[in-house]
Amino acid sequence: MTNHIAEKLNQIQQRINDAATSANRDATTIQLLAVSKTKPVSDIVLAYEAGQRHFGENYVQEGVEKVHALQHLSELTWHFIGPIQSNKSALISQGFAWCHTVDREKIARRLNDQRPDDLAPLNVCIQINIDNEPTKSGVLPEQIAPLADFIQTQPRLSLRGLMAIPKAQPNAIEQTKTLSHLQNLYHDLQQNYPNIDTLSVGMSADLAPAIAHGSTMVRVGTDIFGARAPRPD
Ligand SMILES: *Cc1c(COP(=O)(O)O)cnc(C)c1O
Repeated sequence: MTNHIAEKLNQIQQRINDAATSANRDATTIQLLAVSKTKPVSDIVLAYEAGQRHFGENYVQEGVEKVHALQHLSELTWHFIGPIQSNKSALISQGFAWCHTVDREKIARRLNDQRPDDLAPLNVCIQINIDNEPTKSGVLPEQIAPLADFIQTQPRLSLRGLMAIPKAQPNAIEQTKTLSHLQNLYHDLQQNYPNIDTLSVGMSADLAPAIAHGSTMVRVGTDIFGARAPRPD
C-alpha cells in the first residue's frame, strides 16, 4: 500500500519551495505545520514516517489524547492552534511545546503558571484578529504591544511571534492588503523584540501568498490529510 499522506506532504513541500523561490526566500526558513485535527492517530503516524515532525491540533482533549498515544515517537513537536478556554489552559501547558493562540493576559499568566518545571518554556505566538471579525479570537493591532510586554515578563513562556487566520478575500488585492498589514505588524514587533522569529500564517488555500508576505510557518490540514468531517464545536 502506498503512503498517500507522504505524497501529499511532498506536494506541499514543493508548493512551499515554489512560493519561496518566487518570493526570493530560502524555503528552509519556512516550517510546515501539519494540522491533524479530527484525523486519526494512524494518519499522524503515516506523516511521521514520511518525515513530518511538527503537528498542530485545535481541540484540547483530542490533542492531549494524541500527544499521549504518540509519546513513543521521538522528536514530535506539538502545537496548539485552537481557541483557549481558561479551564483547559493547564492541559495545553502540560501537553504542547507551542501555543499559537494567546490572546489575553489572563491566559498567558495561566499558561506560564501551569507550565511544568521539567519542560522548556512554552513557545507562544500572539493571535491577531487581523480582519477585526467579531466572531474570531485574537487581539487588535494596538493590543499587540502590551500583551507582548506582559508575555515577556513570564519566565515559563517564550514569545516567538504572531499568528493570524485571515479571512478568505474576494480578490488578490484585498488579500495582499491584509497580508501586508500583518507583515508590518510582525516587523514592528521585531523592532522591540529582535528574538522573535515566527509569523504563523497561511493554510491550504493561501499558502503561497502567505509565504510571499513573510510567513515562517504555514499550517496545512486539508491538503495533507484530506477534507474534515464537520464537528459540533
Ligand atoms: C484547521 C486549521 C488550519 C488548517 O486549515 P486547512 O484549510 O485545512 O489547511 C490551520 N490553522 C488553523 C488555526 C486551523 O484551525
